[in-house]
Amino acid sequence: DSTINKIAAGEVIERPASVVKELIENSIDAGATEIKIDVKEGGAKKITVSDNGTGMSYDDVRLAFTKHATSKIWKLEDLYSTTTLGFRGEALSSIASVSKVEMITRQKDDLAGTMIVVQPEGINDVSEIGASAGTSVNVYDLFYNTPARRKYLKSKRTELAHITDTVSKQALGNINVSFTLTSNGRNVLHTPSSGNLFDNIVHVYGRDVARSMIPVDHESELIRVSGYISKPEFTRSGTDFQSFFINNRSVSSRAISNALRTGYYTLLPKGRYPAAVLNIQINPEEVDINVHPRKSHVRLSHEQDIMDAISESVKTALGQAEL
Ligand code: ADP
Ligand code: MG
Repeated sequence: DSTINKIAAGEVIERPASVVKELIENSIDAGATEIKIDVKEGGAKKITVSDNGTGMSYDDVRLAFTKHATSKIWKLEDLYSTTTLGFRGEALSSIASVSKVEMITRQKDDLAGTMIVVQPEGINDVSEIGASAGTSVNVYDLFYNTPARRKYLKSKRTELAHITDTVSKQALGNINVSFTLTSNGRNVLHTPSSGNLFDNIVHVYGRDVARSMIPVDHESELIRVSGYISKPEFTRSGTDFQSFFINNRSVSSRAISNALRTGYYTLLPKGRYPAAVLNIQINPEEVDINVHPRKSHVRLSHEQDIMDAISESVKTALGQAEL
């Protein structure tokens, strides 16, 4: 039912950046090493995500847009112990319920590619087409059929900022994948697939921020924390330069941000925040996600112990650095 689909889509797809996030996650799941994102008008007019991943066969393409047909993960507990990011099998169907989606895909060994066009009214075309290996998805006119949601979108600039933040976090969390983000053809962000986190920080946060970063690498019984934090003399007025990953999944967490700050003790001026990229590895059995459909908020078992360990890692890193 399209009404139910629209409501469900609103849970997953809040704004253009949510589309970008879901499509990038699919590309990563498909083993892509190169992901290109182009947006027009802050993503409201057009979002394109192209990858060099496995692609899909003619037969699988229809299925991909069928809700729940393809869920990669069935149990909540599987979420952090597998390497795939999708778990509801409804991102594509949700996106296609609030926009016009065109997907062109080809598996490496297939002679022809497939193009499918899906709109809220349903699938309107599947055809064979010449295509390079991999998958390219175009999303046109997001929320055109839900004017209330369309109206709720912020300025192009703000929506582009959300998209840039999403791509930045994906780039910092996937250092073996090259990301290119362009807006109306203009270059916004490019990262190499260097496998080197510091290199990616230079590309994402810029050389000045990178220069202020010191390494963190700390292991406790419960967790391992690695990555980079800024020296106390480099601060921001907000948390925009903080990226956290739990078992390779990008998460937003005020608790982690607070734990980071606690590690600096009294070294930070009031109202100022450090830059940080922290990879936190936790035994999957200790991590639970809450039911938020966008999957970005986590609930942790042993939360206080984990936060203490994060503060401790930061304190140790600062202690070892020459400040
Ligand atoms: P989920 O990722 O949870 O399975 P999605 O709706 O996001 O659900 O995607 C549905 C399916 O479409 C995926 O399981 C995958 O098989 C296929 N798919 C989507 N995007 C891609 C892609 N970029 N490359 C290859 N396959 C894809
Ligand atoms: Mg997915």
